Amino acid sequence: MGTEREYNEYLTITLAEPMPYEWSAGMYGSVFFREIREHGRLTGIRCPSCGKVYVPPRRVCGPCFREIEELVPLGDSGTIVAFSTVNYPFIDPATGSQRPIPYTYGYIKIDGADNIFSHIINETDIEKIRVGMRVRAVFREKDQMKGNINDIMHFDIIK
Ligand SMILES: [Zn+2]
Repeated sequence: MGTEREYNEYLTITLAEPMPYEWSAGMYGSVFFREIREHGRLTGIRCPSCGKVYVPPRRVCGPCFREIEELVPLGDSGTIVAFSTVNYPFIDPATGSQRPIPYTYGYIKIDGADNIFSHIINETDIEKIRVGMRVRAVFREKDQMKGNINDIMHFDIIK
């Protein structure tokens, strides 16, 4: 057994190289990000069996276990169904930098979709956010789009 001092000394683990990580967005994920980048719009997909629309599009409807193919254009607005304002420092894996705190993470029901889409809501004062409020996606400038989820900067509360 070590002394109390030995247990209170924190060691660090350093990686020899930065570890860039890349994976395929998939067929429908690519459609989703391309539609944002090129047309500034969200895209969902409708299940032929139950009619549910999912955003972002996915290959299979979980409840029906059916393959889905019908892409549907969606609006850029939705309704907050839940939110959490985060005050805990966090390294954003997309940027490698700490996301400035506080920030608000929202669960948003996009108009025309049946599932919940999660993204940043551009308001950190919890007195000014309520479930049921309407929000609208704010996209990056077209020349700054990269074809990933950060092409949506955040959702603004519609006043
Ligand atoms: Zn279904």
